[in-house]
Amino acid sequence: MKCAILSIGTELLMGQILNTNSKYLSEELNNLGIGVYYHHTVGDNPKRLEALIRETFKNVDMIITTGGLGPTQDDLTKEIISKVFDREMMKDEYSYGKIRDYFNNRKKIMSKNNIRQAYMPKNSIILENNYGTAPGFIIDDKEKIIICLPGPPKEMKNMFNDQVMKYLMKKAKNYIYSKTIRLFGIGESLLEEKIMDLIENQENPTIATYAKEGEVSIRITSSSKDEDEAKYLVNNMIKNIYEKVGQYIYSTDNEELIDVVVKKLKEKSLTISLAESCTGGMIGSKFTDIPGISSSFDRSLVTYSNMAKEEELGVKKHILEEFGAVSRQTAESMAMGLKRKTKSNICLSVTGIAGPDGGTEEKPVGLVYICLLYGKTMVTRRFHFSGDRNKIRTYTLLSSLNMIKEVLERG
Ligand code: AMP
Ligand code: MG
Repeated sequence: MKCAILSIGTELLMGQILNTNSKYLSEELNNLGIGVYYHHTVGDNPKRLEALIRETFKNVDMIITTGGLGPTQDDLTKEIISKVFDREMMKDEYSYGKIRDYFNNRKKIMSKNNIRQAYMPKNSIILENNYGTAPGFIIDDKEKIIICLPGPPKEMKNMFNDQVMKYLMKKAKNYIYSKTIRLFGIGESLLEEKIMDLIENQENPTIATYAKEGEVSIRITSSSKDEDEAKYLVNNMIKNIYEKVGQYIYSTDNEELIDVVVKKLKEKSLTISLAESCTGGMIGSKFTDIPGISSSFDRSLVTYSNMAKEEELGVKKHILEEFGAVSRQTAESMAMGLKRKTKSNICLSVTGIAGPDGGTEEKPVGLVYICLLYGKTMVTRRFHFSGDRNKIRTYTLLSSLNMIKEVLERG
């Protein structure tokens, strides 16, 4: 199947926003084994949009559009497409009900233009929008397929993942199976080096690596007529990847590090407290993002100043003076103070220099100490992260979670 992506919106042509939708869809479609042959962008202009759709269909079987589904008059994707496919517009009662509820729940008045959003080309497959008001739709008339998605990336991605993906998998007739492995502590380039032979010889399954700050993931996707075979191909590849970089893998189910940590804490019915200096509460915030965490998470004390370290954690003045706030001794003393105060099963402290100022030759920006107490175990690590303040703090957060994960795995 040959596919084109058509991005609609004058703001894209004006350079006011970056076309991230095309990138996202291309990546997803390629992973599904669907070839993307063209990216086109057009403004909110009915004539040019219609001409472009007709022209593009001369070269492809399927077009995916994003944008122009909003309630305003310049959003005219649906009307133009119904014209190209020669289908009338019909009110879709289900979409109408959802849009009405959306406004009722927010105590807002529904305008005529919002009602317009519930009108769809006849006989199209409606795609629900769970993150906004504009539904999407698919017209599949055997020879040509058009899939219309909203412009806002969050709405577009969710609609694609939850609904379009299923449609495309059925269309492909093959069973497609995909899993994402997450790794910590290895950079993308070193990872690629280590699994180079697997990447170079990939065919089915395909392997794609993605990098986020401090973390990398590998997505493995297979395609087969047979469901069991598709699963076998992916699981076998995971086994091969484990042999090469197993020590860095923390999830084969695309979970976040925090999710893995919290799962382990709950399994073992353990409690945790934090004393944060350079992260200023970021680690605590990560924990409190998880609903129902109160049975495991006790507190995070933000002890930024020396006075806070003394008052809240009982760190001795002479330790701060002799070794400095960013030192192994201070980190350990913070963790021990936290333990005395909270009695939590796990006590973790961090202290570091996030920059951009405050570094010296002896203690450069990016120097971070993390200390973890768990039963009789004390683990203290010294890190030297590079990057800006934000990066250093993010690495500190992830390294802290990783240390907790490691210690929970061990005992
Ligand atoms: P629309 O559905 O045309 O009303 O688009 C609504 C908003 O979605 C725009 O104002 C942009 O912020 C965003 N948007 C639209 N198209 C794209 C795109 N191709 N990439 C990223 N964001 C987009
Ligand atoms: Mg628009």
